[in-house]
Amino acid sequence: MENNNYFEKLNFKALVEADGNERIQDKLNIIGVFLGTEEHITLEQMYRLLREKGYDYEPEFVRQCMKRMVDLGFAQKKQFESQPVRYEHHHLGRHHDHLICTKCGRIEEFANEDMERLQVKIAIQQGFHMLQHRMEIYGLCSECLTQRRPLMPLAMAKNGERVVVREIAGGMSARTRLADMGLRTGDHIEIINNNGMGRLILGHDCMRLAIGRGIAQKIMVSLDDEDRSTVCDEKN
Ligand SMILES: [Zn+2]
Ligand SMILES: [Zn+2]
Ligand SMILES: [Zn+2]
Repeated sequence: MENNNYFEKLNFKALVEADGNERIQDKLNIIGVFLGTEEHITLEQMYRLLREKGYDYEPEFVRQCMKRMVDLGFAQKKQFESQPVRYEHHHLGRHHDHLICTKCGRIEEFANEDMERLQVKIAIQQGFHMLQHRMEIYGLCSECLTQRRPLMPLAMAKNGERVVVREIAGGMSARTRLADMGLRTGDHIEIINNNGMGRLILGHDCMRLAIGRGIAQKIMVSLDDEDRSTVCDEKN
């Protein structure tokens, strides 16, 4: 690993020297710190890490240096949904994709040859010459998943999740209101939109249903582990 970094740094040095002779050692210190971390690192984290190593560079200089590292193929800039821009190593000839936890923000990497081949095949079938792609899987990491109780309020369910209604708290009135909407215990629902504020949009019996956040706190659900894909005919 260390050796690898040594040649990468040498390679970088030769290329930035061609840019002009400004602050070469500072730039080498920055790439050294960057290559020494295996994280998908934000600029903020990069400033902090540099300071920890005793380098107190102005943020703009660090930002420009990171940009140059991207341009020269030493770093890759990544932006995952609802997260700040991150940088990771750019290893020549190697490719990987990501799993992103929507709860804690954890980023995991994976590489799968079958998946890569399949993507090329799909592109060819559509008459595409594939240049690049991004495969990002959003969900809950194993740690966040184990922290979740088996029964949770519907208001906590995530977009795209399928759940089963287990209990309706809040007495007769809540149950009657939900029954009027056609929602009962034992029903299977899909979360279409739960952005943490306002009403939740649910898919239920091939209909979209909007329910208030207050009442969604009273509906206790568990994850739907039956693998059932309901096919809904579009009726106009
Ligand atoms: Zn890929
Ligand atoms: Zn997580
Ligand atoms: Zn990565």
